Amino acid sequence: MRQIFLLVLLFVVGQWFVKALRRAQTQSRPGAQPGQGAQPGQGAARNANGGTSGGTSASGKAALPEPMVRCAECGVHAPRSESVNAGERSFCSSEHARAYDARTTAQDRPAR
Ligand SMILES: [Zn+2]
Repeated sequence: MRQIFLLVLLFVVGQWFVKALRRAQTQSRPGAQPGQGAQPGQGAARNANGGTSGGTSASGKAALPEPMVRCAECGVHAPRSESVNAGERSFCSSEHARAYDARTTAQDRPAR
C-alpha cells in the first residue's frame, strides 16, 4: 500500500518536472509559441542578441595584420602593402605620390 503511494507521488512529480522543463524551453524560445511569436519587440530582441553574438566587429579588428599608413596627399589611410612610399612619405597611389612630388618641387623652385 505504501509502495503504491510512492509510485503515484513519483508519477506526479515526474509530470510536474516535464511540464516545468517544457515551460523553460518555450520561455527560452519565444518563437515556438504561435501567440507570442508575432510580437515585434521579442523578434527585435532576438535579432539583436543574434547580431551581438555573431557580430563581425571583433573578427574585423583581428583581421588587420598590417599597419595603416596615411597618404600625405589626400589623407586617406591605406594598408602598407598597397601604399606607395616615396622617401619618408606614404601615399595611397602612385598618382598622389607624383602629385605631392610635383607640388613640393614647385614650392622649392618658385616660378617667375
Ligand atoms: Zn592619396
